[in-house]
Amino acid sequence: KFIVIEGPDGAGKTTQAQKLCELFEQKRINYLYTREPGGTDVGNEIRKILLDFKGDINPITETILYSAARAQLIQEVIKPKLNAGVNVIADRYVFSSIVYQGLGLGVEENIVAEINKIATENLLPDYTFYLDLDIESSLGRITGKKDRIEQRGLEYFKKVKEGYISLSKKYPIITIDGNRSKEDVFKDIAGHMGLL
Ligand code: C5P
Ligand code: MG
Repeated sequence: KFIVIEGPDGAGKTTQAQKLCELFEQKRINYLYTREPGGTDVGNEIRKILLDFKGDINPITETILYSAARAQLIQEVIKPKLNAGVNVIADRYVFSSIVYQGLGLGVEENIVAEINKIATENLLPDYTFYLDLDIESSLGRITGKKDRIEQRGLEYFKKVKEGYISLSKKYPIITIDGNRSKEDVFKDIAGHMGLL
């Protein structure tokens, strides 16, 4: 299965992905964890530009760079693994682009979707979990130095959250209440996948 975990920065996506990895290990189920942007050599180079570049990046350029990293990850890693019957756990996927570059930066939603259709060859997840929580709590959980995207203000992250909520109404997205302990959040996720 292809499992995607979505949500704002500081939502606990990586923690939940890790817990899912542990559960798969216990159950001796094959899995692979990937994160975006990155997960391949060239993807990690693109990640550096996206998260550390000091100058201006046009919103369309940003959209294409995220989808370029994604295209490589799919061709090099995700597709071969899925074809070999391995479960893939992805920390972010296309919805991140629709929300961060589309609704957040104002790139037309259809344009982001089209670019990503090409980049992903329309590969869709079996499960998309969206960790929903207050912007204040998620932003408060970010520790250390903020990357280029995380430095955008509260107004931007309000759009990100509204974006996820509006997408969850029109796509097959499972919304998980992220304002709870990581154990409770994980029970929901594992329960939806029939793993409990
Ligand atoms: O998941 P993580 O927080 O590590 O994501 C890396 C960064 O990339 C974050 O700052 C996130 O906001 C940003 N991002 C983005 N657009 C995407 C995917 C991630 O701005 N499509
Ligand atoms: Mg982050």
